[in-house]
Amino acid sequence: MNSTKKTNKFTRFLRNNAALLLLIFCVLAIAAVVLAVTLTNKPAPSIPDNPVVEKPDDGDKDPDPVIKDKVKVYFAKPLNYTSVGMEYVDGKDVLFVSNSTLGGYCYHKGIDLIATDGTEVASMYDGTVLDVKNTFEMGYEVTIDHGDNVIATYASLNDIQVVKGQNVKKGDKIGVASTTASNEFMDGAHVHLEVTKDGKTVDPMPYVKGEIFREVEQD
Ligand SMILES: [Zn+2]
Repeated sequence: MNSTKKTNKFTRFLRNNAALLLLIFCVLAIAAVVLAVTLTNKPAPSIPDNPVVEKPDDGDKDPDPVIKDKVKVYFAKPLNYTSVGMEYVDGKDVLFVSNSTLGGYCYHKGIDLIATDGTEVASMYDGTVLDVKNTFEMGYEVTIDHGDNVIATYASLNDIQVVKGQNVKKGDKIGVASTTASNEFMDGAHVHLEVTKDGKTVDPMPYVKGEIFREVEQD
């Protein structure tokens, strides 16, 4: 009897508060879902691929290598020339050039840069003087190794400013334009310039015009 009463009371309670109970159930369900999602998405503790280890500062250790910027360094014309005399014979369209001094046509593996007698002649690029000599045919000449298998010979010079074995910088004075090359005397004062690359004679004009450059690391 007593228990039947209790049951009825409970049933009546359920019936009277169905909406409220449903609401509470829903809230609990949502809370459970939110909790579950939160736990599932909790990020795992991250472990770096390359853990940073503090190095002891020992003071005299070399600093980390720095990637230096590269800059283009161009060859420069060796002198202020007024015109080009005998041109470079490249073996394609010209085999020989007229040599007024010798009175005929000759093979000419350099270019003649005509200038006023005494015009300063400078090294077109950094380098090392390989040789300084004086011959009847080509006068005073300076041969400079400009690196990267590029060797330049500056001939018909005078007032030589360098010695064999000397290191020169681009723009350093090596001599002056003159008429010392007897084979090219009639051209007047000039510099006879020859350039070899990898042991082969090449057209010096791109070097003179400053079209050739090297990429070097900037300090
Ligand atoms: Zn010449």
